[in-house]
Amino acid sequence: MKNYTHTAHTRFLLNEVHGLSDLFALPRFQHLTTEQCWMMVEAAKQWADRDLAPFFQAMDATPATYNGNGGVKTHPHLRTCIKNGADQGWIGAAAREEHGGMQLPMMIFNAAHALFNSANNSAVGYLELTAGAAALINSFGTRAQHEKFVPKMYAGEWQGTMALTEPQAGSSLTDITTAAHPIGNGFYHIRGQKIFISGGQHEGCDNFVHLTLARIEGAPAGVKGISLFIIPKFWPEDDGTLTYNDVFCAGDFQKMGQRAYVTTHLVFGDKGHCRGWLVGEPNKGLAYMFQMMNEARISVGMGALAVAMAAYQNALQYAHERPQGRLASEKDPLKPPTLIIHHPDVKRMLVTQRAIVEGGLSLAMECNRQFDLSHAASGAAQQEAWLLLEILTPILKAYGSEQANRSAALAIQTYGGYGFTMDFPAQQYYRDLKISTLYEGTTGIQSLDLLGRKVVMEKGKALHLLLQRMRETSAAAGRYQPLQAYATQLETEITRIGSVLTHLSQHAAAGDIDRYLADATVFMEMTSLAVIAWQWLKQGCVAFEHLQKGTGEQPAAFYEEIVHTMKFFYRYELPHAAAHAATLLNEEYLTNPVQTEYLRVS
Ligand SMILES: Cc1cc2nc3c(=O)[nH]c(=O)nc-3n(C[C@H](O)[C@H](O)[C@H](O)COP(=O)(O)OP(=O)(O)OC[C@H]3O[C@@H](n4cnc5c(N)ncnc54)[C@H](O)[C@@H]3O)c2cc1C
Repeated sequence: MKNYTHTAHTRFLLNEVHGLSDLFALPRFQHLTTEQCWMMVEAAKQWADRDLAPFFQAMDATPATYNGNGGVKTHPHLRTCIKNGADQGWIGAAAREEHGGMQLPMMIFNAAHALFNSANNSAVGYLELTAGAAALINSFGTRAQHEKFVPKMYAGEWQGTMALTEPQAGSSLTDITTAAHPIGNGFYHIRGQKIFISGGQHEGCDNFVHLTLARIEGAPAGVKGISLFIIPKFWPEDDGTLTYNDVFCAGDFQKMGQRAYVTTHLVFGDKGHCRGWLVGEPNKGLAYMFQMMNEARISVGMGALAVAMAAYQNALQYAHERPQGRLASEKDPLKPPTLIIHHPDVKRMLVTQRAIVEGGLSLAMECNRQFDLSHAASGAAQQEAWLLLEILTPILKAYGSEQANRSAALAIQTYGGYGFTMDFPAQQYYRDLKISTLYEGTTGIQSLDLLGRKVVMEKGKALHLLLQRMRETSAAAGRYQPLQAYATQLETEITRIGSVLTHLSQHAAAGDIDRYLADATVFMEMTSLAVIAWQWLKQGCVAFEHLQKGTGEQPAAFYEEIVHTMKFFYRYELPHAAAHAATLLNEEYLTNPVQTEYLRVS
């Protein structure tokens, strides 16, 4: 299967829209140049073509399977794939040098991972989990914990996981019950069960390092009593031997998509000798875990868009090759059929896909840039980057995953009936993508996070800053006469967000928090359209300027396509924001939680 490239747009985002080179002025990144970074992205593309894309369909056809006795069989190529990815640095490259990394900006690390996701999203999940788990140990663990686990994780020999979910505690981590009993020196005996653990235990790695949330005996109820533990499957003893640590894999969930990516049920301490090592301080586990969850939310949002990009590229290729019917204006039945790319409705479907994925990927790159600044800059610049990252992360996760799903459905629609068959990969992209709206916090949970926490955090500072940045882009665009209409439309959306919030805040002020949050997902849909419109205007401004001045790294046709897709987003997608606002401003309360009489099972 051909792995269609989208490196031209990646390069445009990195160099021309989001200012990668600004980062090299910061001490953390001053060892790098634009060209070195670009060589890394090109190497990533080559690796994706060689080791990931050729196995995309084969891994789906031979999914991970439980052997009935603690083991999960995976595709034979998975082990090589994880090892080769690790050897090229694609687990640890973003870590600091003192932690064994290359101090690569997240802008580059995640640009590479987007290419991997386009090629084979199941396989790359294993690398991303290990990267996130190791980063958590680096940030909050001791040097001894780092030395015992992280080098093996960066070598791709040991798999990292995040073990949060329990049968009764998914969205609500408050309710986890996995228990930790102290045995001294920071060690605990652990007992409990975790479900849906990605990368759990499988044949592709020698050991597993589960970053696990549990409650220490006597800890306060709720999230204030959750601690973080390192719980390996095999305990690495000081003499280098590995001792089984009583972490049993009781099953592997069979799924509709990402079938090569194992999803295990783990039982800790069934035999009474599972040892966990406390990370950081007791009862601060959820706050620590949020580092990994937030990084994963960016990866999931960006990764979903990258998968949708692959679906779009395949559909585009098909549309250029498939003859069917004639334009309405062609009355002669003896004329040969036209290629479907010429039908306006097919064009609409294709440009919608492009507008979603390239708009969304621009937001993803914005998040990566703010991530880099929030870790490597100082003073006000660091604080502002942190605020922007906080408010943009749930938007990227929710928009990226939901709209990638819609985009992949449009890719199937573009094929017609063949899209539904196993003869083409469109159905696999669609099946693989569904999970992105569920794990790392469902869309409902992201929306509650946006409206309930991020909009009001620091007395509204994050929202204020975001709207200010959007206004700056609109002002910059307004200087070009052909872009003025779009700048005005963005201003309207900024004002609309303010009006809707003023309206909703009345409920919060009256103490009706359920009502305030009831339509958080509709608020997310409205706000994310405005945020993606901002990203399109940013791209459109750069492209327009290059067209006017005859400058830029890409040929003029590339910039013309960017401006065209920006216009399309403003004409076909953004107007939906007004409809969402009408729903939010309506006084009727049709989702009142105390009224269940309209949803009786019959
Ligand atoms: C393939 C796969 C891989 C996974 N990988 C991991 C992993 O590696 N590690 C891990 O710890 N977990 C993992 N998970 C678990 C995943 O994060 C949870 O499934 C997810 O958080 C939702 O929890 P739940 O399934 O219990 O659904 P529930 O929490 O029961 O949610 C059901 C529905 O109710 C809604 N809902 C729930 N609470 C609220 C609320 N307060 N307000 C509004 N709506 C609400 C949800 O949005 C959803 O629509 C994975 C899951 C799957 C399927």
